[in-house]
Amino acid sequence: MKRTFAFGLVLTVVVWACSRVPISNRKQLLLVSDAEMNQQALVSYKQFLDTNRVVNSSQSTAMVKNVGKRIAAAATQYFNDIKHPEFLEGYNWEFNLVEDKQVNAWCMPGGKVVVYTGLLPVTQTEAGLATVMGHEISHAIAKHGAERVSQAYVSQGLLVGGQVALGVAMANKSSQAQNIWNTAYAAAAPAAMNIALLRYSRQHESEADHLGLIFMAIAGYDPKEAITFWQRMANASKNSQKPPLLLSTHPSDEQRIEDLRRLVPEAEKFYTAYRSR
Ligand SMILES: [Zn+2]
Repeated sequence: MKRTFAFGLVLTVVVWACSRVPISNRKQLLLVSDAEMNQQALVSYKQFLDTNRVVNSSQSTAMVKNVGKRIAAAATQYFNDIKHPEFLEGYNWEFNLVEDKQVNAWCMPGGKVVVYTGLLPVTQTEAGLATVMGHEISHAIAKHGAERVSQAYVSQGLLVGGQVALGVAMANKSSQAQNIWNTAYAAAAPAAMNIALLRYSRQHESEADHLGLIFMAIAGYDPKEAITFWQRMANASKNSQKPPLLLSTHPSDEQRIEDLRRLVPEAEKFYTAYRSR
């Protein structure tokens, strides 16, 4: 009886832990729930907005909010169309423009987005902005943050037959879970900045490019514009002594642009299909 129970528990953990990323269909290990990630992100996001200069009323603010809403609506549309609307449950989209010279933008788990004013001279057009916002929003949709935290659980030896990790992951507010969260996002600096400066793996970057391209296309932006934008970004980096922050966390090189070129035809199909609706 006892053994059956234990076996059932392990099986549950394994089933729960192995998810697939939408669109790329890559298997990923998720040992931490959306609810937990989103709750942590919400605290960090509030802290960040309280300690930075949010630009409340400007044309640029309106553009950031408008482009963000269009991308989020495109993602919602996509998951409705594939009959999995539950995928975005618990996402509460928010888009803010922050006065800061850094060439940067990010999206925390659960859909909390920040764009820095320093990014806008490089994005130049709405489609350029849609490229960056589509990419950042895709990190959140692909649950890359949760995957990183899960990888930290595993690398710290907290996964033993699935069960220990379950205990840790479920203990929402235990100090151990908190420590792992902090480590995953590299401690020291304030929590919000850790998430903002999060370095994703190359695999996560490519995946966010892929998903972002499709969501921007569904939102009505020509995915070919993504290539133009990343070329502009590469030039901005060549012409400045210090590479833009967005590039230190989002390397742009020939390979990336090459990969995007390969992905554009698929995204163009979405662009055409959704435009004719
Ligand atoms: Zn990225």
